Amino acid sequence: MPAYDDSNIFARILRGEIPNDTVLETEHTLVFRDIRPQAPVHVLVIPKGAYVSYDDFAAHASEAEIVDFHRAIAKVTRELGVALEGGLGFRAITNAGPDGVQEVPHFHMHILGGRPMGRMVQPG
Ligand code: AMP
Repeated sequence: MPAYDDSNIFARILRGEIPNDTVLETEHTLVFRDIRPQAPVHVLVIPKGAYVSYDDFAAHASEAEIVDFHRAIAKVTRELGVALEGGLGFRAITNAGPDGVQEVPHFHMHILGGRPMGRMVQPG
C-alpha cells in the first residue's frame, strides 16, 4: 500500500484549504459534487480519514467509519433521487491505483446517475 500523501486535493478539501460543493457531511464522511460531472448526478463520497484506496479503507478503517461511509451513500442517493426507493438507480465506482486509473490518492466512491450509464467498462 503506498503511503498516504496528505497534499492530495481531497485532503486539502477536508482541511478547508480549498472550497467544495458539499451535499452531505457526517461524523466520518463527506459527500461533494465532482468538479467535472460525467452525469446529471455525480458526487464523490470520501471518508474523512486518511485512506488511499478502497482496499486500504476496507482493511484499516474502523467499523464506525465503514458503517458511516455506507450509510452516507444510502442517504445521499435517496436525497439526490437516484436510490431505487423512488428513483431509477445509479452507478457506484471506485478506482484504485494505476490499473484502476485513480487520479486522486484519497479513497472516494463516485455516485453517478440521472441518466442511463451505458456499458460498465469500455473495451481496453
Ligand atoms: P479518480 O480518477 O477516480 O481518482 O477521480 C477523481 C475525481 O475527482 C475526478 O472525477 C475529478 O473530476 C474529481 N475532482 C478533482 N478535483 C476536484 C475538486 N477540487 N472538487 C471536486 N472534484 C474534483
